[in-house]
Amino acid sequence: MDDARTPKATGGCQCGAVRYALYAPPENSHVCHCRMCQRATGGLFAALAGAKKADFAWTKGAPAFFASSSLAQRGFCAACGTPLSFAYDTPEARFYVTIGSLDAPDAVPIVIQYGIESRVPWVKFCEDVPGEETGASADAQAFFAAMRTHQA
Ligand SMILES: [Zn+2]
Ligand SMILES: [Zn+2]
Repeated sequence: MDDARTPKATGGCQCGAVRYALYAPPENSHVCHCRMCQRATGGLFAALAGAKKADFAWTKGAPAFFASSSLAQRGFCAACGTPLSFAYDTPEARFYVTIGSLDAPDAVPIVIQYGIESRVPWVKFCEDVPGEETGASADAQAFFAAMRTHQA
């Protein structure tokens, strides 16, 4: 895919079939300990950094998507299974990529931890980074009230 813009960050899946670029510096770098992020990654948490949807593009191949709820899509490589992205369906929401799939994950240190109500108690790292429970704010509660989960 041709794009005249210069990427600020690039990444891709383990087998190389799917590649992406962010055309703005990744923002709101975070981990989410919620049960949906644990299941979706098969890990102890998801690590995600995002950009405006207009500042993101798939540059090689195309991911498959799973709608993990009525509000969000999670992208992954259909060939190798690497979890690649998370985004709420609203146009203004950021498009997040998994920090571990970035070519330079060290460039985006996390600034917040979400979903701390589900943090596995022996997961001890980045303890100086502030944490927030899912639905902690009134805005978040209203948003999640309309959500139907597709998680088994
Ligand atoms: Zn792959
Ligand atoms: Zn989560």
